[in-house]
Amino acid sequence: MKSKIFAILGIIIIFAIIFAVFYLGILSKKEKITDFRGEGKLKIVATLFPVYDMAKHIAGDKADVLLILPPGIEAHSFEPKPSDIVKINEADIFVYTGRFMEQWAEDIINGLDAKKVKVVDSSAGVKMAPAVFYNQDELKGATDPHIWLDFDNAKIMTENIANALIEKDAENEELYSQNLENYKSELTDIDNEYIISLSTCKNKEIIYTGHYAFGFLANRYGLKYLSAQGVSPDSESTVQDFISLVSQIKKNNIGYIFYEELSSPKIAQTIAGETSAKLLFLNAGHNLAKEDMEKGLTFFQILRYNLSNLITGLVCE
Ligand SMILES: [Zn+2]
Repeated sequence: MKSKIFAILGIIIIFAIIFAVFYLGILSKKEKITDFRGEGKLKIVATLFPVYDMAKHIAGDKADVLLILPPGIEAHSFEPKPSDIVKINEADIFVYTGRFMEQWAEDIINGLDAKKVKVVDSSAGVKMAPAVFYNQDELKGATDPHIWLDFDNAKIMTENIANALIEKDAENEELYSQNLENYKSELTDIDNEYIISLSTCKNKEIIYTGHYAFGFLANRYGLKYLSAQGVSPDSESTVQDFISLVSQIKKNNIGYIFYEELSSPKIAQTIAGETSAKLLFLNAGHNLAKEDMEKGLTFFQILRYNLSNLITGLVCE
């Protein structure tokens, strides 16, 4: 009897160990960390999903990279909490997208110890484009903050991040340079996939029910782009905007319209209801939903997913 109990106990313990190893294995790969952990690792704080993804790929296992946005939060209206500011002060590197994306960053940067925290403005040296505004209240003279959706810009942003890593940790320069080359070469591949597919589309206009996030992308591939809102989801679209969008869709017999991530699908559904257009998702990648973060979705996966929906929506080969 006793030996039977021991045998059962033994089996339970073995299963518990297998489960724990498996579960921890998954966690270590997919988990989005919320605090710095690793001893002897560089500490990086990133403000937006694209620069977070870039920093993670370039740093590999040499750094803990924190994304300051909680999963599912809309990025344009985000304001950091005091605990976020503490983390930025603790970091070796603070990466932000640029002054028109994170208008809150400037004050924090002015208060940082410049000898300790290396600040990376990822937009340094990128090609800018004027922002599109649909109402008078938005910032005058601003440029379009969605610079990561032009893939030459994305390469420059990644270079800026790699340079900061090399400056902070020259010993691993070779690794960072190699990771940078790999990342840029993947961006080149994706760019070529976009060029080839989008040159064959029957329809050349992206109609987007969200804010003006895809101006860079549309420009790069010779597409027209019409969005229901200006550069930020805070911008109100007027009844007039809505009516002209609906009439445009009807007039041009447009079969598909695109909707944005992390926002209410109401406008999209209403427009789809007023017309016969079907809805497709186009993700600008500012931030990830919780389940996508848990799945470990990457910037490259988002870009390829978008291309596949563009191919459907714009009727390309
Ligand atoms: Zn945006």
